[in-house]
Amino acid sequence: MDYFPGFLSLEGRRCVVVGGGDVALRKARLLHSAGAALSVIAPATSPAFAEYIERHGLFWTPREFRAADLDGAWLVVTATGKPSVDRAVYAASAERQLFCNSVDDLANSSYITPAIVDRSPLVVAISSGGAAPVLARSVREKIELMLPTQFGRLAELAARWRERAKEQIDSLARRRRFWESVFGGRVSDLAIGGRFDEAERAVADLLVDFTDGGPESGKAWLVGAGPGDPDLLTVRAVQILQSADVILHDRLVSDEILALARRDADLVPVGKSPGCADYTQEAINDKLVGLVRRGKHVCRLKGGDPFVFARGGEELEALRDAGFAAEVVPGITAAAGCAAAAGIPLTHRDASQSVVFATAHGKDSVDRLDWPSLARDRQTLVFYMAVARFDDLMNALIANGRAADTPVAVVERGTTPEQRVVRGTLGQLQMLKEAQRIESPAILIVGEVAAMGAGHLEAPEAANAATVPQASPICAKQIL
Ligand code: SAH
Repeated sequence: MDYFPGFLSLEGRRCVVVGGGDVALRKARLLHSAGAALSVIAPATSPAFAEYIERHGLFWTPREFRAADLDGAWLVVTATGKPSVDRAVYAASAERQLFCNSVDDLANSSYITPAIVDRSPLVVAISSGGAAPVLARSVREKIELMLPTQFGRLAELAARWRERAKEQIDSLARRRRFWESVFGGRVSDLAIGGRFDEAERAVADLLVDFTDGGPESGKAWLVGAGPGDPDLLTVRAVQILQSADVILHDRLVSDEILALARRDADLVPVGKSPGCADYTQEAINDKLVGLVRRGKHVCRLKGGDPFVFARGGEELEALRDAGFAAEVVPGITAAAGCAAAAGIPLTHRDASQSVVFATAHGKDSVDRLDWPSLARDRQTLVFYMAVARFDDLMNALIANGRAADTPVAVVERGTTPEQRVVRGTLGQLQMLKEAQRIESPAILIVGEVAAMGAGHLEAPEAANAATVPQASPICAKQIL
């Protein structure tokens, strides 16, 4: 960080603006709105500036800048349009150890001013450290859209209740939850909708609930983290990640996604990986229930969707049996994420009318599948956890009537920077796996649609491979 961010209290403090043009006027307005006691130094001012000085009773010294003008000042802005004058103002400020901003002149500034979203008392300041002011402004525009204009009123309302909440809710964690309820629920909706009296009453009700003194009530969320790309998280998933006390996460969940967690949250990996059963499902259920029982807000973060081959149903039952509330937040399942990333439509008017998600984890599960039905034409099959069983799947599908030249695509580490898409035919599946060293996590897509999307987003070096006739294996690294 090249600049230290902070908010200055300027109320009643002498600040000096050197310059009388419109840029100086803009700075004067900002400083004045923060309560500064402003002195303007300029031989002449624009008519608008003159009018502003008059209207607000600012102190104006109508002559060239002199170093002594800085006596007693706390902060300096110079925007004279004359580099030599701005430089002199900066030098005189530095001599007095005063912070000085020369507008649009980084080299002669000891502080810079951020782009601002003002929902006072809530203020968002954005800076690119002078590197890209236009980028900072574009971020500001995005934030402007995110924060309804009434947000300031919501912050004012919070300020009115702050002391009372402190007095009535001892526990820090509980107080944080109270405020989360204020800002994340009905109160916020009411205030943003301009219904301030009702919002005020709703805060009072909430405070009663939280003051109650009863045991802290825990809660769990089963949250889908999607297939890997953090941009594929749902808004709700991000909200929960940012508020939960503990995050019990799968091995497949990436560091980038975990980085979105609240900074002081406990991150607990409860991964079950092939050949590494460090946590049994029972142990995960127990841990989850135990944490909720201790009053924690627990996010059980699972790859993809929590209800697709994820044993989310069992975790939900364990929670309900123990009498705890739980909310399920769906995620983008690997089939949907990987198919999208590879440009493969899972259904297609001409080629596939249905899609089946199946798993082939272990020999038993392969044996239990209904092969005659899976081998039917005009349907797409998506196999999860199947890499170790490609040979069994291939043989069973062909033995039950699916053509050996049915297209297949394997998407390995889909939606991540390491994504690979390997294409070929059903009869080549085992060979493809060995030749391309396909590893878990990968999903297998079988059906005519698997031939679609070849060339979609493919890297230039794969362009030749993509022109190989359909029956040949194609391995293409995808660019995300
Ligand atoms: N609940 C998850 C599935 C968990 S089972 C979901 O809805 O997606 C784990 C299997 O999901 C892996 O063996 C693999 O088949 C598949 N999978 C998960 N993430 C994947 C990814 N990024 N790319 C390819 N396959 C993935």
